[in-house]
Amino acid sequence: MSGNSLFHSAKQYEDAISSKLADGQLRKNLKSAMTTLKTNRKNLISSRYTDWEGLRELGKEVKIKSLSKLDELLERFESNALKNGFKVHWANDAQEANEIIYKLAKEKRVSKILKGKSMASEEIHLNAYLKEKGILATETDLGELIIQLIDEPPVHIVAPAIHKNRYQIGEIFKDKLDAPLESEPEKLNAIARKHLRKEFEDFKMGLSGVNFAIANEGAIWLVENEGNGRMSTTACDIHVAICGIEKIVESFEDASILDTLLVPSAVGAPITCYNNIITGARKDGDLDGPQEAHIIMLDNNRSNVLADSHYYRSLSCIRCGTCLNHCPVYDKIGGHAYLSTYPGPIGEVISPQLFGLDNCGYMVNLCSLCGRCSEVCPVKIPLAELIRDLRSEKVGEGRGDVRGYKKVHRNKSEKIAMEVFASLATSGLKWRMLLHLVGLFSPLGKKMAPILPGLKNWVFCREFPKINASLHAKVKNLKGVIYE
Ligand code: SF4
Repeated sequence: MSGNSLFHSAKQYEDAISSKLADGQLRKNLKSAMTTLKTNRKNLISSRYTDWEGLRELGKEVKIKSLSKLDELLERFESNALKNGFKVHWANDAQEANEIIYKLAKEKRVSKILKGKSMASEEIHLNAYLKEKGILATETDLGELIIQLIDEPPVHIVAPAIHKNRYQIGEIFKDKLDAPLESEPEKLNAIARKHLRKEFEDFKMGLSGVNFAIANEGAIWLVENEGNGRMSTTACDIHVAICGIEKIVESFEDASILDTLLVPSAVGAPITCYNNIITGARKDGDLDGPQEAHIIMLDNNRSNVLADSHYYRSLSCIRCGTCLNHCPVYDKIGGHAYLSTYPGPIGEVISPQLFGLDNCGYMVNLCSLCGRCSEVCPVKIPLAELIRDLRSEKVGEGRGDVRGYKKVHRNKSEKIAMEVFASLATSGLKWRMLLHLVGLFSPLGKKMAPILPGLKNWVFCREFPKINASLHAKVKNLKGVIYE
């Protein structure tokens, strides 16, 4: 699990990955969930959209436009949000964001906060921080509730408990909520609903994330499927929203384009059950709404990412999770093996930048560079390209200005191995000699590989390749081949 520590060694990653690969039930659950999400998305896009690619291009343009004038849009958003009656706070880092929330809770003498789903709150490890201060943060999103009961972080940025099947969820509810053992989705929902209704009685402070913050209106847009988000933002005395600064867009029209891309990509549905557009605290004549509404604008190194002319594109992410669903690595190991709040392809791009390449550089190895993530990303972030570039940074071949780059401990033997490989692969004579030798020793290599230090790990879950050293000679003798 990611815990509060940002640094994770290669050994920690290898252990986490091995244990996830060995968990047959986890792999079965992930495969089934990912297949459903991918199929739903594909069917919806082919049946309901006449120009999905055009829409993706529009989404990309909206995000690039917003990021290109983010400073101006942030100012405009603050000014309009204040006029609407929001209180706007600025947090440079996780500590500042947590302190703002704690201070608000303390002022209002609140000892329990009910939370809607928010990856930003996961990023700042809010629940653990509040727990230390004696405040209970209770998750109200069904998936978040399930993993909170078993003290796990989210496994996926959209579906936090997607690694558990309904039988496992039934067991969790039985153990943790003292409920009868059930496995039917309707009955499981009823158990969760009954439990959460009790929590919603008399609560004072609700917390949510933000999908889009609209500068021209000073409003926030929250997308959700369960209604718990609406409760957390409306039925409480104080509502606090945590918003990464990259969530700003200029207008409702821009936000609508992104919303039209977000929901189909995330869950394969045309629209969510609840679209909450929040314009501040309760006003005179309003029938409901909180007495106070606060927005925390979270930087946490996003400004540094924005200043990077190459990697800033990763701030376009609208957190739909579809790059995770299509990743052939994620669907084998799940999100916990990435040891970061943000897993999968987008996690590999933003985690090293938000938290330091020195802390989570190993993550960029968890990619086959197949390019599916770039093909499906609704806002066209070139994920595979950025992952490859971060790999270069990690081995000292890049530009060297990713946060934490200087402290990355490079693997000396890997570096030497790559240099030797480059020297052999760029000389025809050396390469042919090498192939000849490999061909001679390959039967022996197959037997020895499981005990040789350099090859042991590699062949652990791979077949030793069949090496045909005579291919070169065969090609040379093929009719019609002009060989020089
Ligand atoms: S990178 Fe693209 S596909 Fe992945 S979560 Fe973000 S918006 Fe979705």
